[in-house]
Amino acid sequence: MLIRNGKIIDGTSNNWFYGDIAVQGGKILAVGKHLSFTAARIIDANGLMVAPGFIDVHTHLEEDESKDPMAQSFIYDGVTTCITGNCGLSNTDIGKYLSWIDSLKVSINIATLIGHNDVRKAVMGRANRDATAAEQLQMESIVEKAMKDGAVGMSTGLIYIPGTYSKTPEIVGLAKIVSRYNGVYATHMRDEGDSVTTAIEEALTIGREASLPVQISHFKLSGQQNWGRSNETIGLVKQAREQGTEVTIDQYPYTASSTSISTLIPDEILADGQDSIKARLERPAIRKYVIDEMLKKLKKRKLKHFSYAVVAFYRADTTYNGKSIEQINRLKGKKHKAKEEAETVIDIMINGGASAVFHGMSEEDVKRIMQYPFNMFASDASIRVLNSGMPHPRGYGTNARVLGKYVREENVLSLEEAIRRMTSLPAQKFQLASRGMLRDGFAADIVIFDEKQVKDVSTFEKPHAYSEGFRYVIVNGILTVDDGKHTGARAGLPLYGPARVNPK
Ligand SMILES: [Zn+2]
Repeated sequence: MLIRNGKIIDGTSNNWFYGDIAVQGGKILAVGKHLSFTAARIIDANGLMVAPGFIDVHTHLEEDESKDPMAQSFIYDGVTTCITGNCGLSNTDIGKYLSWIDSLKVSINIATLIGHNDVRKAVMGRANRDATAAEQLQMESIVEKAMKDGAVGMSTGLIYIPGTYSKTPEIVGLAKIVSRYNGVYATHMRDEGDSVTTAIEEALTIGREASLPVQISHFKLSGQQNWGRSNETIGLVKQAREQGTEVTIDQYPYTASSTSISTLIPDEILADGQDSIKARLERPAIRKYVIDEMLKKLKKRKLKHFSYAVVAFYRADTTYNGKSIEQINRLKGKKHKAKEEAETVIDIMINGGASAVFHGMSEEDVKRIMQYPFNMFASDASIRVLNSGMPHPRGYGTNARVLGKYVREENVLSLEEAIRRMTSLPAQKFQLASRGMLRDGFAADIVIFDEKQVKDVSTFEKPHAYSEGFRYVIVNGILTVDDGKHTGARAGLPLYGPARVNPK
């Protein structure tokens, strides 16, 4: 394959230049001006940008690959590689997972982390206590096997059950194993709001004590009372780097987050699974306590209603999907009071819980984080299936939104710089050898797009829409999007971590 006359952005943040790229056997054969190769397929990239395929460092695939192995929500957003197993959630048998990926054949390359929550669950269930010495050893051996089997590192999700019950030394112990096998520590921190600086300190402590690189996931400031604090939090990251900690961050370019509605409920209520949650919330005294706590938190946010919390998917009553807690109450004819809204959240929890979108960040913080040079972009999403549920739009539009809204329309960062954050920066951080740049001998993961047309189409109201502007997407040398249409090709590969690529 020969790509002709494109504006080449090589992934280093150097300026674009006119040139050709020759591809053979899944690899880049040559990059240069007026290449004199013959090719079975010639792509005229005149007027288009040619860049390395994007690497999404924070995804949650976990067997959703089988729902759409063509991974269209990612491919149409220019993504050719995903790193999954984030926020402490992954398969515990990484070898089995990666060989399943290999046999399934997906349109994107996939690397994975081993998730601490699932490791802990496998050994200790949902117990709210420290690990015994024997349990710690058992967890360490699962992590060690995962690293040998090809994980790129370990993730934590310290707001989720049971990760939230673990203390720093437990994680340091596991991170030391990851460090021995040259992996990365990626963390969904204990707090992204009032106590965010303490949470950042914990992540940095783990990086220092276990001596391994740290990736702080979906870096943000949650809660109206914390808006503007990105100066302080980015400052901590900068300072840590100056002091020798290998820390980087990632973000999704939106001012709303998406997670379980259970995050509105105090942690201690959530132990031991749904039956226990239900039993607790049905006791009047506990119910009253939970409502009081929820109202306190709301007040702290300087809000009078739960309008910032929108139900994304509620299995027990799908008419709730896409509506805020405030709207749901109005529709049900309940009192327009925060207390009644808290009752509704509790009822949702009793009936199995729901996923939710929280409109709780400021545009100013999103932009300030975006301008930090060692920040990557990540969707924090699985492969989206068209018209299923009301998911956060980031699963469809993350990269196109950066290139359209933040690069073209608002000049928050340059095109070349945005591409570096989507390509060579994540490849370096997660040690994906020979990817993330347009270089001779590198894997031929390439996106060709129109910088004037690229845009995200997915919105909170109508999330199910693919991004536009990506005319050609090539994965391991195979044309996967041809003139804007997915070809059906499934040329992605499992990508292995450092301990499997270079075993000791
Ligand atoms: Zn997370």
